[in-house]
Amino acid sequence: MYFDPVETLPRQELEQLQAKRLKNTVAVALNSPYYSRVLNAAGISPDSITSVADVKKLPFTTKDDLRAEYPYGMLSRPLEDFIRLHASSGTTGTPTAVFYTDEDIREWAALMARSMYACGVRKSDVLQNMSGYGLFTGGLGIHYGSERLGCLTVPAGAGNSKRQVKLIRDFNVTVAHIIPSYALYFAEFLQSEGIDPASLPLRIALIGAEPHTEEIRKRIEQMLQLKAYNSYGLSEMNGPGVAFECTEQSGMHVWEDAFLIEIINPETGEDVAEGEVGEVVMTNLTRQGMPLIRYRTRDLTRFVPGDCACGRTHRRIDRIQGRADDMLIIKGVNIYPMQIEQTLMSLPEVGQNYLIELFHEGTMDQIRVKVEIREEFFVEDMRELQALQKRIATRLRDEILVTPRVELVQSESIPKTEGKAMRVKDLRN
Ligand code: AMP
Ligand code: ZN
Repeated sequence: MYFDPVETLPRQELEQLQAKRLKNTVAVALNSPYYSRVLNAAGISPDSITSVADVKKLPFTTKDDLRAEYPYGMLSRPLEDFIRLHASSGTTGTPTAVFYTDEDIREWAALMARSMYACGVRKSDVLQNMSGYGLFTGGLGIHYGSERLGCLTVPAGAGNSKRQVKLIRDFNVTVAHIIPSYALYFAEFLQSEGIDPASLPLRIALIGAEPHTEEIRKRIEQMLQLKAYNSYGLSEMNGPGVAFECTEQSGMHVWEDAFLIEIINPETGEDVAEGEVGEVVMTNLTRQGMPLIRYRTRDLTRFVPGDCACGRTHRRIDRIQGRADDMLIIKGVNIYPMQIEQTLMSLPEVGQNYLIELFHEGTMDQIRVKVEIREEFFVEDMRELQALQKRIATRLRDEILVTPRVELVQSESIPKTEGKAMRVKDLRN
């Protein structure tokens, strides 16, 4: 049922383990130039930690701190002890580098293997990694996890859908790792080639690395005829394998033996009330080479209350609603791109892709949403299209409280990238 007995450790024991490991993390971190400076200045030593609650004594670490210490200031070991580095995709600003020792790579692979096992992947599966390799952690991170689980692993990389299909067929691929925007594109590709997805051996897709709504998951499942499971991670905490859905599909278990998670109010820094949305803050509990303490992820979500039917004791988080720095302020109203996606994807006429554009109109900020319309709905009749346009604008206004310009475009006319999708374009400067 479980890959690792620690997945069902009773809460009390899990918290004892966390406290012990947190203390050790402080000891390890003190060997890095950055943390020795910061923790010594705050009068923190390993002895400051006797329980999980003591994490609140520790200072936050931000992305700016990582940038300021680039490249080596966060390392707790001599450089020769490291065997790999990755860098964040830089969706927001300059990239940051993360370094791994041999033990760190092994630990990460084990967490990944555990994650995949939780959503039904077994040794007998053949896993095709359809996400980019290179500095992006979704390549080698998933790859090593899949091998650790014992799956035959096909390092296909992203793009070239025709070849992906051939590999899937030739090697009887049953599991795909694919980012959601490429999954939608791939599903459309199958349609356009007249390939019945049910004729492919795929049964599971691991999707993650970028925000997506439940509606998108359902579309991926339906269009590709498989089960899709949400995968959360960030390079600063290894990469994928931080939190993962189990077969219950009701939130992602955070692997709390390896990560201490807090959800805080980003303004006050205090914990939000149980079940409320806030910013995810993470502390490494097992990393040797570059442990980070109270890292401000900027990702927004909430704890899912209650126990999971799967029996794992590690708490679950809801899907990521967006990043604190994703928030758009239009005419004084706060808007998250995921609200727009959710509304769009609930409309059957809407295709798989959309683009949000911000622009100036006189002195006013305006928002325009370009929406791909599915081929069968793209009719010649102007009035029908106008009615649809109006209906979409009204639905969006009901959700975001601002009336956006809606532009209907033919399917496949919004450019796609192989990596994480760029859904918002700011044309204001
Ligand atoms: P990177 O370190 O460049 O791979 O980017 C990590 C970021 O990608 C996270 O901080 C999230 O903002 C985003 N991300 C990763 N996985 C997910 C997911 N399953 N859902 C939503 N956003 C995600
Ligand atoms: Zn579960």
